[in-house]
Amino acid sequence: MSPTPRRPIRELPDELISQIAAGEVVERPASVVRELLDNALDADATQITVRLSAGGVRLISVEDDGAGIAPDQMATALKRHATSKIASLAELEAVGTMGFRGEALAAIHSIAEVALLSRAGDQKSAWLLDGRTGELKPAARALGTTVEVKELFYSVPARRKFLKTDATELAHCIDAVRRHALARPDVGFAIWHEGKLIEHWRAHPGEAGRAQRLGDVLGEDFLAASVALDHRVGPVHVTGRAGLPDAARSRADQQFAYVNGRFVRDKVIVHAARAAYEDVLHGQRQPVYVLHVTIDPARVDVNVHPTKIEVRFRDGREVHQAVRHAVENALAAPRAALAAAADA
Ligand code: ADP
Ligand code: MG
Repeated sequence: MSPTPRRPIRELPDELISQIAAGEVVERPASVVRELLDNALDADATQITVRLSAGGVRLISVEDDGAGIAPDQMATALKRHATSKIASLAELEAVGTMGFRGEALAAIHSIAEVALLSRAGDQKSAWLLDGRTGELKPAARALGTTVEVKELFYSVPARRKFLKTDATELAHCIDAVRRHALARPDVGFAIWHEGKLIEHWRAHPGEAGRAQRLGDVLGEDFLAASVALDHRVGPVHVTGRAGLPDAARSRADQQFAYVNGRFVRDKVIVHAARAAYEDVLHGQRQPVYVLHVTIDPARVDVNVHPTKIEVRFRDGREVHQAVRHAVENALAAPRAALAAAADA
């Protein structure tokens, strides 16, 4: 029997390459929200407004007052592997911005209708780039950038079928903003859905801003039922708040971990936090916490996953120890006070 003839090996067309790559970055509307917020923060925005329609499927618009994009750079911003954030391997290894892969706008552009409206500091007017036609024309806008994303997955209907209800997608979008908002109390965030303002977190500059933003985003209850922590072990600095054991929940939906300002899902941090609660939490109760790990960027690799939600530490043990001790120390003080009260 002769083998079935093979098709020749061919390089894929550019558009298909982009659509395949987009699958790694954009899973749902919330992924787009996250990427656009990262870009706004990298542009030093102080106020960011997110507007959504149909849970983000029909429209996601993110408006910032950041540095803007020069008109002759706008088309390049939509290209694959095009970035202003790194230019060399050395810069990649010490990256301090949220973005650096130059993939997000290209990915979004390949699976949705994108328009960029931006005015950079040295421009007399704003410019509007229609991503579909490539047309660039003058427009009106204050300093900053608006990225508008319409009809997500219109060109890949198979992906669109995996989306949940608008209400669920909206909830994920709000979660994405919440995660950024907890990291950046110095920046104001607003979320609109179908023309209605649904969240507005005012900017709180300075150190006191952290607690204020926590109260705004997670509620005063969270503040009342948690203790502040600030602990340094070697090169690892851990700050944030740890919930008291009584504040534990049945779901792990209030566990926020950040590494150098980036929201992450990290086994080392989750395990270390869990270990700190070992003696005080029983069964399936889930602790609540917001943990900010600050570490020399050279000691952590953020280029592990296209969405950058996973990181790799050069020395996981030092991070584990720092997080565990930070939380244990924070919990020790209220426990001692409780024990004293019980003895009295
Ligand atoms: P990355 O963030 O990894 O550089 P993106 O595809 O997200 O890649 O963005 C490409 C480039 O477009 C960025 O490097 C930046 O120069 C520019 N850009 C994107 N969004 C904004 C924004 N909101 N304000 C200013 N510049 C932006
Ligand atoms: Mg980006």
